[in-house]
Amino acid sequence: MNNKIIEGGPPVVETAPGDCEYEYVVPDVNDSSVEIACGEPATRWPVLDDSRNAHLRAAGKTGDEFQPSKLALCDEHYKQLLVDIAEQDGSDPYRVWIAAEPKVVEIGWTLSDRENGYVSYMDGWRAGAAQHAVSIEVDLPPDLPPYKVADLVFLATNAPDLEGHPDAAKILAAVQATGYRGVEGGHFSLSVGDTVTVDGMRLACEDVRWKDVS
Ligand SMILES: [Zn+2]
Repeated sequence: MNNKIIEGGPPVVETAPGDCEYEYVVPDVNDSSVEIACGEPATRWPVLDDSRNAHLRAAGKTGDEFQPSKLALCDEHYKQLLVDIAEQDGSDPYRVWIAAEPKVVEIGWTLSDRENGYVSYMDGWRAGAAQHAVSIEVDLPPDLPPYKVADLVFLATNAPDLEGHPDAAKILAAVQATGYRGVEGGHFSLSVGDTVTVDGMRLACEDVRWKDVS
């Protein structure tokens, strides 16, 4: 059996360039203060939403300026952001929250080896089975457990229509952006025997659940 993992490509994983966009506020003379750009390398790119823009979108505004936006942050300022968010007053009309975090998801379409009697969607995942793997990066709601992300990948690659499922639609678009159309892996719709790896956990699709095969 061919154990080689074939890398699909090109992956759309982006290492966003740039420095932290936060600013330090430091005291200046005469009781004033100055803002100094952090300048540290950004390591986190949370997507921030706020209640005012959410309200305006609900009222029909569709412009880019009303959409959630990515903020480049270093680790230290990311932690500070979490503290700031936790301390917000729930009635503050300008309160913000993290609507999404970039997540790297690797999808492995398992290749059957019919000569040796192995059919992935019948027999399920097996260690060492050859796969066509594609890596994508998508902005997903924070704190999604890996199996929920796997559910979204399943939906994204199986549902004929993703209207009303924006996260699955993002995943489908990211997969399509890699150029994968189902040829290299033998199929496009995630099936029994295929895997989804996220946050270091590799989940194999079974008939009624996901199995941790990390
Ligand atoms: Zn910073």
